[in-house]
Amino acid sequence: MAEDCIFCKIIAGSILTKKIYEDDDVVAFIDIKPIAPVHFMIVPKLHVGSLQDCQPAQQDLLGKILLLAPKLALEQGLKGFRTMINTGAEGGQEVFHLHVHIFGGGEILPKI
Ligand code: 5GP
Ligand code: ZN
Repeated sequence: MAEDCIFCKIIAGSILTKKIYEDDDVVAFIDIKPIAPVHFMIVPKLHVGSLQDCQPAQQDLLGKILLLAPKLALEQGLKGFRTMINTGAEGGQEVFHLHVHIFGGGEILPKI
């Protein structure tokens, strides 16, 4: 747990949020400012700042998160979805605790 990390506080339960999944390694919760009708994030319980901070030791964790994404997306009613990992301030990252965004629903997402 990192001091002053909002996602560590969510994981610890000291900030309440709408969790949709939890196990020993990860949590998933609804984004507070959704950019699509369904928008949640999968977050490792281990505090890792970003994808740039991941090491080979996190290989299984990263694989687990990606394999979980389609399962949770389906549970949330998504037939298709987009994943996004913002990395570093220049990559648009605002919360420096690794997280994978999953979003979709409604209109077909525009091509990027
Ligand atoms: P980033 O830009 O770092 O990839 O994404 C951070 C995301 O965290 C943003 O989409 C933002 O809406 C979300 N977020 C920030 N604070 C909170 C919070 O307290 N609760 C929840 N559920 N989401 C948050
Ligand atoms: Zn953290």
